[in-house]
Amino acid sequence: MKQSKLFLNTLRENPADADVASHRLMLRAGLMRQLTAGVYTFLPLGYRVLSKIEAIVRQEMDNAGAQEVLLPAMQPAELWQQSGRWEDYGAELIRFQDRHDRTMVLGPTHEEVITSLVQNEVQSYRQLPVTLYQIQTKFRDEPRPRAGLLRGREFRMKDAYSFDLDEAGLDASYQAMYDAYCRIFDRLGVEYRAVEADSGAIGGEAGNHEFMVLSEAGEDTIAGCSHCSYAANVEKAVGQALPQADASQTPAREKVATPGTKTIEDLVRVLGVSASQIIKVVVYLADGKPVAACLRGDHEVNEVKLKKVLGAKDLTMASAEEVLRETGKPVGFVGPDCGLKVVFDRDILSIADGVAASNEAGYHDIHVVPNRDFPVPETADIRMAAAGDLCVKCGQPLRLFRGIEVGHVFKLGTKYSKAFGATYTDESGAERTIIMGCYGLGTSRVIPAVIEQCHDENGIIWPIAIAPYHVHIVPVNIKDEQQVKAAESLYHRLHAAGVEVLLDDRDERPGVKFKDADLIGLPVRVTIGSKIAEGNVELKIRRTGEVQVLTVEQAFETIL
Ligand code: ATP
Ligand code: MG
Ligand code: MG
Ligand code: MG
Repeated sequence: MKQSKLFLNTLRENPADADVASHRLMLRAGLMRQLTAGVYTFLPLGYRVLSKIEAIVRQEMDNAGAQEVLLPAMQPAELWQQSGRWEDYGAELIRFQDRHDRTMVLGPTHEEVITSLVQNEVQSYRQLPVTLYQIQTKFRDEPRPRAGLLRGREFRMKDAYSFDLDEAGLDASYQAMYDAYCRIFDRLGVEYRAVEADSGAIGGEAGNHEFMVLSEAGEDTIAGCSHCSYAANVEKAVGQALPQADASQTPAREKVATPGTKTIEDLVRVLGVSASQIIKVVVYLADGKPVAACLRGDHEVNEVKLKKVLGAKDLTMASAEEVLRETGKPVGFVGPDCGLKVVFDRDILSIADGVAASNEAGYHDIHVVPNRDFPVPETADIRMAAAGDLCVKCGQPLRLFRGIEVGHVFKLGTKYSKAFGATYTDESGAERTIIMGCYGLGTSRVIPAVIEQCHDENGIIWPIAIAPYHVHIVPVNIKDEQQVKAAESLYHRLHAAGVEVLLDDRDERPGVKFKDADLIGLPVRVTIGSKIAEGNVELKIRRTGEVQVLTVEQAFETIL
């Protein structure tokens, strides 16, 4: 490709509203442009990268025995009503009326479509197992589209769905996909972890892993052990380490009338949040000193303070619980000189009013106010504090990492096959429910995830597998006939040998050309300048910055 013809505008300046490195670089290197919030146009360079990622994903899916289909993005609402997700999916589901007033949705994911398809097509055990996949555009009206392609409202995903006779079959299908994901991320050249994950809204039975590209720009926190292989999404780690207050323990309606709060359940009710959103409740004295903390229902209390407040003797964690039960007095929410800080999954709130005025009985309504009284730690710090207490498998403390969720493999079980009546007749003629798994991979999110790991202050550093082109040939002065001739000849020879080459044939100053070359970040640059008079060129490796002076012939051989 000749750069003078390429539909490309690089930007000198950092775009104002892009505060994540990959977002800035994708705009500056001319990979994409925003149309509206969370919706992007892929320009030629960006589309080449996306196509390469999708080609790798497609190869590995095919190798794993999955078969590609193309599913409709436009789907009737009835399918979503049948699965129950018409209500459950919430405002992320894009809904609209067609001209005949039928309600439709734009697919954020395709369990409904694929299960109804398989329900119609599969009758006998002879047709199973089967894994189908699609690579296409998905739509989610995300509340906070963020950082370019990292969280779009319209984005690209590979999604696969497995259909099996029994649990053992599902285990095998799941393992095949898990292994394929490892091969994909190995080939993409990124550092990643497969971590145990929470089931979330998709609703499934045992078993699911998220594939995380390690990066500070990620929204997920991973708890990992350096002593054993344990690695989990922090929500999952907290859940595994501590007894989780589940919805079934939420107080009954009549209790709601009781003013005041003394347990996590009370808080949940007053704040109108779900228990699993609360990571930690900390009780502070007015001087900001924490005296007690309650972590997802597990009490951890400053004994001196508690003894004073409750008048208890020989206090232990267990007896604190007992005292609470017997006296009905609050353990955590201890008195007139305290403030409460509730640490949520994402936001931090302080509960000061009401509690501060707490009397002997300690029963007061809680008012939620933004936390101005206490320094607000980063969410990661809070998770650090929470996870510092966890040792989930081998007893060693966990370390926390930030990650970008790029893939998710999930044992669904029979949630969707039951809802759609997807059954088969077994060898004995009995009717049985198909067992499902689903396997998502955000192909467009992979691009910024890779860039987060592969860039420097000058631009992108593409891994060869997904670089838009492999080699950048830069003749320094296109008015110099010798340079142009050498550049064109090398360009044609490499092209004929199957190497993807970008030739910077623009009449620009060398500084501009070099800056653009670093920004675009192709793995190898061949600079053709005045040394061509002696038959030499410069070959530069973008990743290491290593420069070699070679003859044209040597450069050609080195690249091949
Ligand atoms: P997240 O937790 O980041 O919202 P998710 O768990 O909702 O993601 P899944 O339903 O598991 O996402 O979808 C499979 C994959 O699709 C994700 O692992 C991710 O790579 C990608 N993905 C999901 N939402 C988006 C989005 N808004 N923009 C880009 N990629 C996305
Ligand atoms: Mg999501
Ligand atoms: Mg997720
Ligand atoms: Mg997920």
